[in-house]
Amino acid sequence: MMNPETQYNLLNQKIAEENERSAAIMKEKADYKIQIWFKSDRSMHSPIAFTLSFWESGKRMHGGGDEMMFICKRNEDAKDVTPFEVASVSKGKASARGCGSLIPGEMVLPGGLAVCPHCGVKHKSTEIGDSIFYRATIDNAAKILETWWRKLDGNADIYAKYSPTDPRTKMMYQNYNHIVAREKKGLTIYPLKNILKDTSAGASVFSRFKAFITA
Ligand SMILES: [Zn+2]
Repeated sequence: MMNPETQYNLLNQKIAEENERSAAIMKEKADYKIQIWFKSDRSMHSPIAFTLSFWESGKRMHGGGDEMMFICKRNEDAKDVTPFEVASVSKGKASARGCGSLIPGEMVLPGGLAVCPHCGVKHKSTEIGDSIFYRATIDNAAKILETWWRKLDGNADIYAKYSPTDPRTKMMYQNYNHIVAREKKGLTIYPLKNILKDTSAGASVFSRFKAFITA
């Protein structure tokens, strides 16, 4: 039987090791996460349909889970922005629907009002979305992805989900059980450290993203 002091020391040592491990994992993560979700097959010949959504990673939030960001763009059926809804900080930048930038979770007030830090417009959180739908060629899809990645200071991991008929999804079903496969929808990740490694070797971000989209 171990004496209590030894037991206590062992426990502390275990906690310290555990903390070190999670700190190392966190350090590897980017501050942001972009998810590209392919809604159609990824064809070189016809435009592909996909959505983009954006998270602040748990690292940026000082631990805890990732937090999805809203997009400063009012739904089509919502009414236009009125002068009253434009906070005083930066009038002029706002358009009738909002500026299209990202609104972090901390800018969503308890009453459900979201304030855009870029243009100052206040939206009801029910009138704005958290993903953007695109239909674009592979080249344009890579450009769109690069534009958003740069907007997030080039500090984002990229996650991809695939349509049910995509070979990637089928591969997931072969390698994992159904629940995992359904959850992940053929998920692949292009972590920031790999993006930086690949581009430091001379490849452009655009060409790397294009390769990731078509892989
Ligand atoms: Zn805005």
